[in-house]
Amino acid sequence: MAPAGRAVVIGASMGGLLAARALSETYAEVVLLDRDVLPDGPANRRGVPQGRQLHVLLDRGRQVLTALFPGLDEELTARGVCPVDLHGEVHWYNDGHRMRRAPSDLVAYGMSRPLLEQVVRERVHALPGVRVLSGHEVTGLIVTPDRRWVTGVRVSAGVRVPVGDRGSAGGRSEFTVAADLVVDAGGRGSRSPVWLAAAGYRPAPEERVEVDVTYVTRTYRRESGQLEGLLGALANAVPGRPRAGIVAPQEDGRFAVVLSGVLGEQPPTDDEGMAAFAETLPAPQIGELLRTARPVDPPARMRFPASVRRRYERLRRLPEGHLVFGDGLCSFNPIYGQGMTVAALEALLLRRLLAEGGDGLARRFYRGAARLIDPPWQLSVGTDLRFPEVTGRRTLRVRLVNAYVGRLHAAATTDAGLGAAFLRVLNLVDPPTRLLTPGRLVRVLRGPRRAVARRPVGVGRV
Ligand SMILES: Cc1cc2nc3c(=O)[nH]c(=O)nc-3n(C[C@H](O)[C@H](O)[C@H](O)COP(=O)(O)OP(=O)(O)OC[C@H]3O[C@@H](n4cnc5c(N)ncnc54)[C@H](O)[C@@H]3O)c2cc1C
Repeated sequence: MAPAGRAVVIGASMGGLLAARALSETYAEVVLLDRDVLPDGPANRRGVPQGRQLHVLLDRGRQVLTALFPGLDEELTARGVCPVDLHGEVHWYNDGHRMRRAPSDLVAYGMSRPLLEQVVRERVHALPGVRVLSGHEVTGLIVTPDRRWVTGVRVSAGVRVPVGDRGSAGGRSEFTVAADLVVDAGGRGSRSPVWLAAAGYRPAPEERVEVDVTYVTRTYRRESGQLEGLLGALANAVPGRPRAGIVAPQEDGRFAVVLSGVLGEQPPTDDEGMAAFAETLPAPQIGELLRTARPVDPPARMRFPASVRRRYERLRRLPEGHLVFGDGLCSFNPIYGQGMTVAALEALLLRRLLAEGGDGLARRFYRGAARLIDPPWQLSVGTDLRFPEVTGRRTLRVRLVNAYVGRLHAAATTDAGLGAAFLRVLNLVDPPTRLLTPGRLVRVLRGPRRAVARRPVGVGRV
């Protein structure tokens, strides 16, 4: 069918851009509205504060993005982005166990978040029928009198000036944009719960897992011989040592280092403090890098209080003509790097549902999204539940899986096949059940059990 009608997307970050890509095959016009004045190049902006923090695009996300935007791999490489073999070129320390490396087809692009967003934004701008209205804030939904359909959005645009005694936002113009479909990709702070409540809808049940994560990211000049010649390093947080670190290459010859703390643990932001914090991690390469590499910019700090999942699929009444997408639907603990990949999978789902046609798009979308969010949500929340301070249901399944994966990390110090299987699940390429094939079960249970203590546990809340 020829594209027809108009879709409006609230938010032009990764979620909104990916939604627009899916919508552009069905709608003649796709209008993306973002309250930020969007930059012309790869720059940080206010509406995406997490853009200053290290972002890793999982291999599954890379696969989907390159399917949606053919040639994206080559374009990123041409812009100085470095492909990294995730199993062959990274020092992995899972629960203190050094994973045995082996070449693999799992690839992560070492790039900054603003660059990825810029490249995708350029691709989406070039799609027929797509218009991006930068500096346009959506302030509400337009709903039919019977409240069954969302038919557009209210928009406020222009330069913010102090509100005068007219009681209105002087200097800003207010108008409406009619739409056959409104997709809210406004992020974790999506206003849809408030707007839908004003239209008489019940709030979507919300699941919240408090993790109190603090990120500190800084970039350093990349020079030969660093990281023992490899391209990345990672040490995860474990109960008793709620600290983690990741190093990944960035475009323009830099390494980005993120130090993170969970459950209130705070990485410092001064040179000595950061190096000392990194030296308490099991991956000695991270501390060595911080002691010797030259910083390029000041450190950026960000706090992430809780993972939040809004279960729209559980609502009995939903308006048609409106969807919530991306982080507005589920905002994952960033440590697992899942957000952009899940948004990309939602874009594939939306594209398929639109191509199928038919009624009840909202219900079909939320049901499908719930099915694709379940595995990464269980993976991240299940792993967070290893920390006794994290509140949530520790079912027998969660406890068994965590005990098993702990044994798998020990066995992967010598068995590269087990490490590869784990990384494929972590990258959302394979389902978690792949870790439980009979052959792997035997190898995990026969493998070494004890943690290999590489470093003494350092100072802090341990
Ligand atoms: C510290 C941190 C680290 C992360 N690391 C990773 C990682 O390594 N890998 C990964 O895949 N994901 C990561 N994520 C998650 C990732 O950033 C998001 O999943 C991704 O940006 C998609 O989110 P989104 O587009 O739905 O929302 P956002 O990125 O939050 O964007 C929302 C957009 O909507 C706009 N907006 C909001 N309200 C309005 C309105 N009313 N009108 C108009 N515009 C509006 C904002 O300006 C913004 O552009 C991380 C997140 C955090 C917090």
